[in-house]
Amino acid sequence: MPAQVSSGAPARLGTRLCFLFYARPVFRAWEIFCNHTARLLIHKERRALPQFQKEWARLNLRRMEIQRELGRISRSHAHVCAQCGHCCQGTRERDAFLDRILQDPSTPHIHARRREGEMIALVQARAEKRLLHTEAPPAPNACNELTCRGCRIPNELRPMQCLAYFCGAAVRALSQQECEEGIRLVRQLMRLQWDAVKLAWRTRIGYGEKR
Ligand code: SF4
Ligand code: SF4
Repeated sequence: MPAQVSSGAPARLGTRLCFLFYARPVFRAWEIFCNHTARLLIHKERRALPQFQKEWARLNLRRMEIQRELGRISRSHAHVCAQCGHCCQGTRERDAFLDRILQDPSTPHIHARRREGEMIALVQARAEKRLLHTEAPPAPNACNELTCRGCRIPNELRPMQCLAYFCGAAVRALSQQECEEGIRLVRQLMRLQWDAVKLAWRTRIGYGEKR
């Protein structure tokens, strides 16, 4: 698919710096904090009880909606990322604890890093016949999900860090409106991560949703 380039005026420097601040140190630190806190708080047996399942599913829908919108913004700098490719290089697994628990509350992969098995997003996309670039060969020395034509996971199913990361070159390709939207969406993603931490805590103290 041809790369889509942002049509709006370039974002103001202050807005770009603000977006970079949220997308880099703030989101990164917050994501690490929330993932570890949720992992330590969650109750291993109670996490997938029906009342909690419903709430994880609700959070997951919110996550997908935010990621869909972030994916829309990402199309504006797809040409920059296609030339660079840095973010998808390296073979480490990208899915974090919260990605897994939101997509499958019963997941057996409850450690900080998944060391075996497949990414839940991949399993889900395959089951729903939504895998992208199915004919393309895998990219060498890169994330397992990367093909020579791009990521095979749809935006809304990818790990959160894949959608929330923006570097200076990527942000320079965005319009003022896209930058402002990006800030709003990254903040929403951080709020959602905090809500997931609170839900993990509720599985520990045993209170499900009343309704
Ligand atoms: S976000 Fe930046 S570092 Fe990552 S692939 Fe795109 S241009 Fe490269
Ligand atoms: S899941 Fe997709 S977007 Fe994320 S690092 Fe892997 S190939 Fe890149």
